[in-house]
Amino acid sequence: RSRFSQSRALTERARGLYPAGVTRVSVGTVPIGKRNDGLSIYAHAGEGARIQDADGNSYVDFHSNFSTLIHGHRHPETVGAIASQLERGTCFGNPTVADIDLAQAICERIPAIERVRFLNSGTEAVMFAIKAARAMTNRTRLAKLEGAFHGTYDWAEVSARNCPENWGADFPNSNPPYSNTPPNVCEEVVVLPLNDTQRSRTIIEQHRSDLACIIVDVLPCAAGMIPLNPDYLAMLQDTARQHGILLISDEVVCFRLGYHGASAARGLEPDFVTLGKVVGGGLPIGVVGGRSATMEAFAPQDSAPVPQGGTFSANALTMAAGRAALTALTVSEIERIDELGNYLRQQAEESAAQAGIAITVQGAGSLFRFHSKQARPLSYREAYHDVAESEALRRLHAGMLERGFYVAAPFWGSISTSMTILHVDDFLDAFRACLREIPDLKRL
Ligand code: PMP
Repeated sequence: RSRFSQSRALTERARGLYPAGVTRVSVGTVPIGKRNDGLSIYAHAGEGARIQDADGNSYVDFHSNFSTLIHGHRHPETVGAIASQLERGTCFGNPTVADIDLAQAICERIPAIERVRFLNSGTEAVMFAIKAARAMTNRTRLAKLEGAFHGTYDWAEVSARNCPENWGADFPNSNPPYSNTPPNVCEEVVVLPLNDTQRSRTIIEQHRSDLACIIVDVLPCAAGMIPLNPDYLAMLQDTARQHGILLISDEVVCFRLGYHGASAARGLEPDFVTLGKVVGGGLPIGVVGGRSATMEAFAPQDSAPVPQGGTFSANALTMAAGRAALTALTVSEIERIDELGNYLRQQAEESAAQAGIAITVQGAGSLFRFHSKQARPLSYREAYHDVAESEALRRLHAGMLERGFYVAAPFWGSISTSMTILHVDDFLDAFRACLREIPDLKRL
């Protein structure tokens, strides 16, 4: 019996049910064994910082469902809140106290959010922020950064993949996200070069009279998790304001960078903020919030410029879980996991340098992304991994899995409050073992 025999059997079963054998593109097969082995590791249970797979193997979970579970698995207060709501029902055709309570917690916490609406995913949050911006500006186009992922609303996913075809000779291209994307989708999206202040300003100004919004993630994971420079963010803010373009801060992942959210932590004053992941306490959620004036796009109820509904939007179970998770995410806990993140990034880079291996780590706070690069990439193009660099990361990812550490592909993750420095030190020990034992990592 191999170490992954149950997962192998389940992977086989899934092949007859799902296209490509997986039910979301992002949770594909893991790079264990031969290159295209096609193994999915099936989860059985999770508790705190650890998960157990279908074969009983245990991992420290730095994946946390793409950074969603900021308190780890089965966080006691969150589980308690879900259990207590479960006694009374999961969803209603009525509002509940639970939704008011979470709305209030969010409005009190995030300065840019005076009014809020609940949805079921980050994708929906971004979609409604864009629709609202269009309605409030009487314009249709949007600007986004090359390589940044904002979910799968057509316009939001233009040029969301880091590939040379997106780069373009003069400007980043507006590349179609899927086969046969209607051409006008791409025409409606202006793509900005990440951290290139001069060129981005020029591009925005060229399109100033028809841009409804600029959407920005201050730490765009898919673009390499390169922190956006303060002067770049200031330019986006100022240029948007000057031309009546609304600014959307997408904090589906980066909300955790500060108690008051990422925009407050980075000095942005966005017109809309989108949230997801963490604020649902492990259940599906999306949030669009913003200034009272711009959130008027969703009012009045009977004839709003942007009608917004959703059968499961603000369902009581998610609302209860989200409130518990948010309450437990205190200033001191954020500071603590941020320090662990700093420590992980710094120590991993030092160990790689000492071992003569080209690995650097981007990210901020409790988020990290490994690159098979000699220097930390500071631009989108620098973050692009060629075949050899991708293969090196793949081996490293596999090596960490085999040593009991679960991260997201190609190699990123986050610290949860269920972790201590011991988890991080164990992760670093496994990483150092990988540096010693895995052949063909890229050398300095
Ligand atoms: N925005 C960002 C920045 C994201 O990272 C994601 C998903 N990881 C989304 C939006 C979409 O969220 P969801 O998967 O909940 O639709």
